[in-house]
Amino acid sequence: MDYKNITVAGSGVLGSQIAYQTAFKGFNVAIYDINDSAIESSKKRLAKLKKNYRNDMGASEAQLDAAYGRLSFHTNLAEAVADADLVIEAIPEVADIKTAFYKDLGKAAPEKTVFVTNSSTLLPSQFAAATGRPEKFLALHFANTIRINNTAEIMKHPGTAGQVFEDVIQFAEAIGMVPLPLHKEQPGYILNSLLVPFLEAAELLLVKKVADVETVDKTWMIATGAPLGPFAILDVVGINTAHNIVKAKAAATGNPKFVELAHMLKSEYLDKGKLGRETGEGFYSY
Ligand code: NAD
Repeated sequence: MDYKNITVAGSGVLGSQIAYQTAFKGFNVAIYDINDSAIESSKKRLAKLKKNYRNDMGASEAQLDAAYGRLSFHTNLAEAVADADLVIEAIPEVADIKTAFYKDLGKAAPEKTVFVTNSSTLLPSQFAAATGRPEKFLALHFANTIRINNTAEIMKHPGTAGQVFEDVIQFAEAIGMVPLPLHKEQPGYILNSLLVPFLEAAELLLVKKVADVETVDKTWMIATGAPLGPFAILDVVGINTAHNIVKAKAAATGNPKFVELAHMLKSEYLDKGKLGRETGEGFYSY
């Protein structure tokens, strides 16, 4: 892996974090977004991140400034990717927006450039053709708050070249992530393939009135030694996200248990402003 110049496309919640972490680890990072106002928002996020790195990571002023100094800001795609070894795409989770972006990117980027998507729910094979270089395209999926929750799920599609897969694994490690390779496409990667059914099973116990929130969590924690039970995890994820997932499942399957669960999450929690930890109350009070 001889990547030096990285472009992060989309400088929102995740893109800003990825850009700063990558620069903090010594890479040159070009940030690309659609207009000046998006770039201004990114600069505000980056100023906050600097504070977080000072407080959480014990970084010195010199380190923080050096990292910031390795960032450049662009609203012109061709300029942003002119010498990119790797483009990390973190633009909105909308298939049409991503497809259009990859078509433009495929034309603008040099032949050597590898593209990765940070998409949470869409599969790389959906965009492989649009990139014009399927062998140099795959997923590199970060978790929110990447400086602390430093997982990097690296997922191939059937056309990804083996060497490119290995290079991205090495790159993830070089920027302080724990690389987690997936050799096949899997919606939800590893984490959400495990977590979503687990959380749903807990929520269904509540809807069926089998046991209360505390008892379900206590059972899981004592029996497995886990630090949090499913409802405490749901409060971290946010009940809004949980509701969106259950609502989609209720609509897709028509299963009355999921319909009832979606209704309960809305009437008992969302409508009462109980969205989880972020609002100070969810299944628990904080
Ligand atoms: P966000 O809405 O905060 O940021 C998206 C950014 O993309 C914005 O700055 C927007 O201006 C920019 N953008 C829009 N269209 C663009 C285009 N055509 N070209 C370049 N930039 C464009 O979104 P986010 O939460 O950072 O999510 C981005 C991606 O990361 C999504 O695919 C999402 O699934 C994934 N992701 C998000 C999280 C999370 O917790 N937020 C976690 C892991 C992965």
